Amino acid sequence: MNKSCYFCGVNESESKFDLLEEGYYEDMLICHECWFSDTARRWRLKQEEKDQAYKLHSELVTAGFPVDCEHCGHRSFRHPKYIGHSPDWEVMCDSCHRFKWDIVKPRKHDLTKWHEFYQAYMKGRLNLQANQKQLQDMSGQLGLPEISCECGGHYSMLAKPRCERCNHVLSDSLFHVFDQHYQDN
Ligand SMILES: [Zn+2]
Ligand SMILES: [Zn+2]
Ligand SMILES: [Zn+2]
Repeated sequence: MNKSCYFCGVNESESKFDLLEEGYYEDMLICHECWFSDTARRWRLKQEEKDQAYKLHSELVTAGFPVDCEHCGHRSFRHPKYIGHSPDWEVMCDSCHRFKWDIVKPRKHDLTKWHEFYQAYMKGRLNLQANQKQLQDMSGQLGLPEISCECGGHYSMLAKPRCERCNHVLSDSLFHVFDQHYQDN
């Protein structure tokens, strides 16, 4: 297959770096130069207007996306798990807003299946309810230690993020962490 940048048409063989996958639309590739360009930015904004599923995907992959608790209005910021140079998988307490970074290390644990589910969730194609049993099995297979939280709850791959102020569940997502004090600068 001829691989080239969607925007400038540069061929992968002529490009200094590998082309990047757009992330939502399959087979769409973008070169490093175009990734942060105005053309790409304008295209993304237009696409968000045209395609609700793409808009949701854009929001889900954004680090620091603001979300207000539907129960108490407290604002926190949503980040996808598993990002950064040494990606970690944050694990939530099942009873409060606390989470830990040091339970699941992607280098030590096989997160392949979790990553597949993550990708599907980000594209709006994962029904967490319908896959509950498989997620439980996947969690068991990781063989994580039982760790208690100071609130009396337990840290779990299946626990959902909660509001720091009122403890309300902020999202069904198992693939995001909510941070109350994020600053984008
Ligand atoms: Zn390009
Ligand atoms: Zn709240
Ligand atoms: Zn807790």
